[in-house]
Amino acid sequence: MGKPSGFLEYARQVPGYRPVEDRRHDWRAVEAPPLDEAMREQAARCMDCGVPFCHGCGCPLANVIPEWNDLVYRGRWREALDLLLLTNPFPEFTGRICPALCEGSCVLGLNREPVAIRCIELAIVEHGFAEGWMAPQPPAVRRPESVAVIGSGPAGLVVAQELNRRGFAVTVFDAARRPGGILRYGIPEFKLEKSVVDRRIRLMEAEGVRFECGVVVGEDLSPRFLRDRFAAICLAGGAREPRNLAVPGRELRGIHFAMDYLRQQNRRMDGETIPAAEAIDASGKRVVVIGGGDTGSDCLGTALRQGAKQVLQIEILPEPPAARAASNPWPAWPLIRRDSSSHKEGGTRRWCVNPRAFVGQDGRVTALCAVEVEWTTGTDGRSAMAEKSGTACEIPADLVLLAMGFVGPRKGRILANLGVALDARGNVTKDADNMTSVPGIFAAGDMARGASLVVRAMADGLIAAHGIERYLDAVSDKLSA
Ligand SMILES: Cc1cc2nc3c(=O)[nH]c(=O)nc-3n(C[C@H](O)[C@H](O)[C@H](O)COP(=O)(O)OP(=O)(O)OC[C@H]3O[C@@H](n4cnc5c(N)ncnc54)[C@H](O)[C@@H]3O)c2cc1C
Repeated sequence: MGKPSGFLEYARQVPGYRPVEDRRHDWRAVEAPPLDEAMREQAARCMDCGVPFCHGCGCPLANVIPEWNDLVYRGRWREALDLLLLTNPFPEFTGRICPALCEGSCVLGLNREPVAIRCIELAIVEHGFAEGWMAPQPPAVRRPESVAVIGSGPAGLVVAQELNRRGFAVTVFDAARRPGGILRYGIPEFKLEKSVVDRRIRLMEAEGVRFECGVVVGEDLSPRFLRDRFAAICLAGGAREPRNLAVPGRELRGIHFAMDYLRQQNRRMDGETIPAAEAIDASGKRVVVIGGGDTGSDCLGTALRQGAKQVLQIEILPEPPAARAASNPWPAWPLIRRDSSSHKEGGTRRWCVNPRAFVGQDGRVTALCAVEVEWTTGTDGRSAMAEKSGTACEIPADLVLLAMGFVGPRKGRILANLGVALDARGNVTKDADNMTSVPGIFAAGDMARGASLVVRAMADGLIAAHGIERYLDAVSDKLSA
């Protein structure tokens, strides 16, 4: 522990965001970069708390947070980086866009503001890049086996990096034009600049990972070909099936899934031209975003930057409390109202609003019909929803974005042809090594756990990589016996 009295001397301070008026008109990262000196002071706030819940209970990667906080406080950045990279393959992603589950369970958070762990993590890895310490790490010895990874989101990238560094020949296939999954095509540029994704891909290529983009496995490449060609396969195709809103008027033009909208804007940022007939653009429009989560807030920030006339984000659930409820004690993740950087830029939010239908003119949506609802909790602890009489209304809308989450992986040919078992929710089932019901085929990330977080996809990727190595070791032992 660096400074025993640090948590008493220093208040939490984070770099914060660029001014709204400045950031609302461009696509650059909204968050200011952390400064090394400020982060050394912040690291001094980490206490010698005995049981570091941040590490054990908060972080899915089990980052050894107190230890690297101590090293940062002492200015030993290189050692802090080495320690961080032991558990976190891509801190430059989590340092920018992780909700920081660790901070929710920081012991200091019991009666003060938690340590600024996410920003310290980002400072460590960016210090590493600036110093030239983040160099490619190709394996010293190559193994004969090849591994195919299907999907280049955070889960697939972790599997590929880990196995390549262990000497396997890894090829990553992705249907999209460029690698990164949701990191590239979902999360907007203003939250995660794509140069950060490109920088990691370049490192991985320099280490020997092969990327084959624009290849839909199951259509352009048969799973049988992959089975013959590769000693093991990892499925990391994400949970891409969006939840629909099956209400009257859903077929009207101007109603789109959030990911289709966000993907287009990210493609534009990448220099692609979207044909006019396909373009989804909020410019000058009255936008309604249905779904109060992070994807909805990304739509809101994107629509504001595109010049929307107005943006309303609605949510069927009640507004979360400002502070933890008694039923949500520390160190559980705080279920509280969160205002993202986009919410601070404009737009309006409403809770307890149930969408009932869309109405339109000449085949185009003009309004959303909705009603307010009330939530009650029964004696069995279950919540129930009832419509409030007299609250039915029409909300004008020229563009509606459905951001109500995802229901699981796309049921394309790949899953059927490989014959992997699915659970009741339609996710790919796996064992403790992340192997599916078919020997030699593994799964990681949202495809196996359902839509979640980047940090969890990365943690899954590590398990799958270790599982694949163990599996291939066993196969090779059998062959040489
Ligand atoms: C809009 C949005 C914003 C988000 N923001 C955050 C955030 O700020 N912080 C956070 O922690 N999490 C966030 N998430 C969640 C997070 O991005 C996901 O949990 C994570 O990306 C899942 O990683 P993955 O590798 O499992 O899949 P994905 O990132 O979905 O990648 C899957 C890849 O597989 C490819 N693929 C699928 N099928 C095939 C096939 N048959 N052949 C070839 N390729 C295929 C796809 O093209 C895709 O590139 C966000 C999600 C969304 C939708």
